[in-house]
Amino acid sequence: MLGFDLTDEQRELKELAHKFAEQEIIPRAREYDEKEIFPVDVCEKAFAAGLMNFGVPKELGGPGLGVLDTSLIVEELNYGCAGISNAIGANDLATLPILIAGNDEQKRTYLGQLVKKLTFCAFAITEPGAGSDVAAMSTTYRREGDGYIINGTKHFISNGSRADWYVTFATSDKRLKHKGISCFVFPSSVPGITRNRMHGKLGQRAADTGEIFYEDVRVPASALVGREGEGFKYAMATFDHSRPEIGAIAIGIAQRALDECLKYSKQRNAFGQPIAN
Ligand SMILES: Cc1cc2nc3c(=O)[nH]c(=O)nc-3n(C[C@H](O)[C@H](O)[C@H](O)COP(=O)(O)OP(=O)(O)OC[C@H]3O[C@@H](n4cnc5c(N)ncnc54)[C@H](O)[C@@H]3O)c2cc1C
Repeated sequence: MLGFDLTDEQRELKELAHKFAEQEIIPRAREYDEKEIFPVDVCEKAFAAGLMNFGVPKELGGPGLGVLDTSLIVEELNYGCAGISNAIGANDLATLPILIAGNDEQKRTYLGQLVKKLTFCAFAITEPGAGSDVAAMSTTYRREGDGYIINGTKHFISNGSRADWYVTFATSDKRLKHKGISCFVFPSSVPGITRNRMHGKLGQRAADTGEIFYEDVRVPASALVGREGEGFKYAMATFDHSRPEIGAIAIGIAQRALDECLKYSKQRNAFGQPIAN
């Protein structure tokens, strides 16, 4: 028979994340959301509590958690605040293409960095003209010498204006659609990169949602993740992992809304009795 019960370890993880949301996220959520404060302080605490970089393998010093464990954690963190939780969890999206297709050197360099000290990274695929339709992207790359030159604009990128490294997708020829796309990883300090934090979102306002501009960004051949022309596959494989977690985020938010409604409906009196009646 198929079992849907959580293990003791999974229950402990869920409790740890829920307690973290109650103690560290909820007390700050309103102010950080209103003032668009990026929650570095909360991320530092999450990092110390082992509640960041969930997918980094144990052999690299990370927790090495899978999709279910990660979903349990993000559900509870999002019970606190979706924006603060985005800041805590967005690194995970950028680690996935490296876990899926990166070589040992890329794993050691980039994933290894994440567990040494609080570091931010970003997964950059969306563009002003390409969101759901990933294959329509316009950011280009071309081979030059022993490396690649990248040009284009990404937007709506979580951690976009503060990441220490980027996983970026670009096409060699837009006419090739998904077959032209490759994936690259490189530090954000590479010359030719400018970036901004986007302001005025309706939700997730504590999160850093950024624009990144690549202008003749030169990266070495070693920046290529996996094989040329396979980037679209890596992006879709990344979403296979991240989509259940997006579902868990929605459940965390919905559970909190329900709990707050129930609490209010018992406190609020109308016509001589709590409206819950
Ligand atoms: C807070 C936040 C954080 C984000 N973080 C990242 C990140 O870290 N990295 C990153 O790369 N991107 C990120 N994104 C971007 C996100 O992935 C895109 O917003 C998403 O892919 C949708 O793209 P779009 O906004 O261009 O909408 P569009 O693709 O233009 O879609 C607009 C609407 O049309 C609908 N639609 C699209 N295609 C069809 C179709 N064929 N049939 C019917 N309806 C359709 C969509 O469902 C949607 O309702 C983030 C966005 C937000 C808001």
